[in-house]
Amino acid sequence: MQASGAHSHVLSGTIFSIATVLLLLGVAALEAAASSSVYHPEHIENARENLKRHAWAQTIVRSWEHNVSFAMQQDREFFEELISELTFGTFYGQNCPACVEAKRSVVGEHGLLVWTISNPDQLTCRRCGTVYPSEQYPETGVLECPRMGQTFTYYQTPGERALGPDAPAAERAKHALGWLDGGKRVQMTSFSGMIRGEKNRWAWAQMLVLAKLYAITGEIGYAERAAWILDRFARVFPNYLYHSYDGSYADLPPAEVAASMGDPNTPSGGRFPPEAIRHAYGLNQHSDDNGDYSTLFNGFWGAGRLFAHAGSDSAPLRHMTVAYDLIRDARYPDGTLLLDDSAQKRIVDDLLIAGAEDTENWTDVSNNGMSTYAFSAALGTLLQQPDRVRHALSGLNEMLSDRYHFDGFYAETPHYASWNFEHVGALLDGIYGYSDPEGYQPPDGQRLENLNPFTDGDMHLVLQAAVRMIAPPGNRTPTIGDTIYTDRPAVRPIQCLDARLSEQYSGLLKAVSGTEGNEYSLWYRPANAVTDRDIRIPVQSEWFPGWHVGVLRGPDGDNETALYLNGNEHLWTKRTGHRQVDILSIIFYAFGRELASDRGYFSGSAQVTPDGRPGQAWVDSTLSHNLVVVDNEVQRRRVAGSNLELFGVTPEVEVIEASAHNVYPQCDQYRRTCALATSPEGTPYVVDFFRVHGGSLHQYSFNCNGTMVATRPHDLAIEETTLSGPWVQWLDRPRAIVPDMPLTFAWSHDGVNMDLMLLNRSDTVDRVIIADAPGWRTHQEAMAGRDPIQQILAEKR
Ligand SMILES: [Zn+2]
Repeated sequence: MQASGAHSHVLSGTIFSIATVLLLLGVAALEAAASSSVYHPEHIENARENLKRHAWAQTIVRSWEHNVSFAMQQDREFFEELISELTFGTFYGQNCPACVEAKRSVVGEHGLLVWTISNPDQLTCRRCGTVYPSEQYPETGVLECPRMGQTFTYYQTPGERALGPDAPAAERAKHALGWLDGGKRVQMTSFSGMIRGEKNRWAWAQMLVLAKLYAITGEIGYAERAAWILDRFARVFPNYLYHSYDGSYADLPPAEVAASMGDPNTPSGGRFPPEAIRHAYGLNQHSDDNGDYSTLFNGFWGAGRLFAHAGSDSAPLRHMTVAYDLIRDARYPDGTLLLDDSAQKRIVDDLLIAGAEDTENWTDVSNNGMSTYAFSAALGTLLQQPDRVRHALSGLNEMLSDRYHFDGFYAETPHYASWNFEHVGALLDGIYGYSDPEGYQPPDGQRLENLNPFTDGDMHLVLQAAVRMIAPPGNRTPTIGDTIYTDRPAVRPIQCLDARLSEQYSGLLKAVSGTEGNEYSLWYRPANAVTDRDIRIPVQSEWFPGWHVGVLRGPDGDNETALYLNGNEHLWTKRTGHRQVDILSIIFYAFGRELASDRGYFSGSAQVTPDGRPGQAWVDSTLSHNLVVVDNEVQRRRVAGSNLELFGVTPEVEVIEASAHNVYPQCDQYRRTCALATSPEGTPYVVDFFRVHGGSLHQYSFNCNGTMVATRPHDLAIEETTLSGPWVQWLDRPRAIVPDMPLTFAWSHDGVNMDLMLLNRSDTVDRVIIADAPGWRTHQEAMAGRDPIQQILAEKR
């Protein structure tokens, strides 16, 4: 066996469990705060020590000081005025009307309107320079929320304005700016709403940095400004209405809205009287066939009071919890508390607990839903609320058993594993060190004592999975399923390994990301940890038995070569969102380059190519992958998967074989064997056997990045041909060869050559088609334009 990895694991069918818990949804009364949320006193002490010793730590703290320099010059009144009493609006779907008129922005585009604190009452278009608010683009539309007494204004196009204020919403909508569904879903464009939101986001980001600076430096000026911001939010938050990123406002008490959206017996957007959901163009008001009720669009997925997007309010509320924790004991030089009793009570009751009571209605364990549990963990630990901590733990355990395979891999894709762990990591930080309050009697009799979620249970497998999958040249994520091909390895699990697990991982952060230390290291990596050694990224050839992916890496262990065999599965052992219909496809890396590719993730929002094709349909399709397509069909999307048949590693050759289960119903065999070896000259090569039995047309499909530069023999008779079936929509310039001897196709990519040698005879392959396949891999690339890549299909009928 090859010993190229630093670690090997015995993987039994362990079921994840961090702690045995009971779900208790009662809300504990506020008790004397006696604990810390995510930065305990020893972490603050450690950060100070890191700051003394390490240049990277000094760089981080200097950047914080620079970041808050403007805020440090402001008085309390500035923050009072900055953070509005009126509910704010979304940045999502806010397009630039001037660019829309000039056809310089695409339908539904956002991110063009830029806000800065130096010009806090304006938005400027980064593309055309138009400044909003603007007399040319006035906010003449008015959206009333009469029940809750709030009024919002929005921009109307000249066509909409001409109809007058009494025109029916459906008529006005015909002139409004489009958003989702290729623009069919109209969006309220409100510069004023977006400006209020930008101000708030700036304020709470500043608050957290200020609070951290106070914790590390002890300078009261930082704490003072953090307190002003926090107290202001505590006073305005009770008035903030639930609103959705589709422009809807819920004209109802927020607690009522949150309870209905979390109710499993209502739609995800809740169930409200028809007029209670307010939208400039009347959307969502009649969400059922009879028009009996309205919904707040898709509920917590896109609605909040502080943040109307992924994870709802929980991220800002968690930041407020942490900031409060860091400054709650701050005192002026004369000994008086910076936050007096009434301010502390307001922040805890009206902001943090009220917010948690809202967000805890959302018990979804998706990659966005985990954010709410992370907030509950931080708040429950800070306020010593055992029920709240148990709520967070129950979400964590449910998510681990539903969404992770037993080998520590997330059941979706590397891209979504990374996103999910953003929230999971925050949750782990929140419950680290938690113990039940003294004298507390848990209903199940099991006290929680000094939790260490990083080492308890099988969390180490989740953390290690992020490293074990890493693709060449050591800083890439393999492009499996819906994963953007430029994705870098998730930093969060790596920094946890580096700082929290054991000394063996100290320096891993540097090995993967080139960074000596980041903010996580500042707080949590012991200041005396040895990080300047040359740690190898612990990868090796292995089959991940839960994830159903194998990787062969060759004998050198230099992280230059990798062959991924994507066994994949669909709804076989786990829910498998965002995986693609690509069972037994391969990706091949050599000399640090990705050569034979999986195209990746075009778009999660149904974006299209400039000529109107749904690019995600191509990258998701069986047809864009390196495998055998049977009868021009896409593999089954229902219960299907693969079984490992053979795995062996010697210093000379590494072999993996897997057979598909239920992939093509007409096939009784669909099996692939790949052997990776190195030529005497040091060139890696793969021998690929693909056995298929059943069906009437087999096409061995193969693509490589770069350009096809040669065929051998080079004097082949190549003739134009036509394709049939679903290929027609995606492959251009098909030309065919009828082979009577083995053929070689040569590609060149980024200075590396790749040869595909077909060991065909005239009776084993009828013809080989060479065609141009899309060169783009994301919707942004499709907009910008990319040269095609070449794909071959070796056919046998
Ligand atoms: Zn513009």
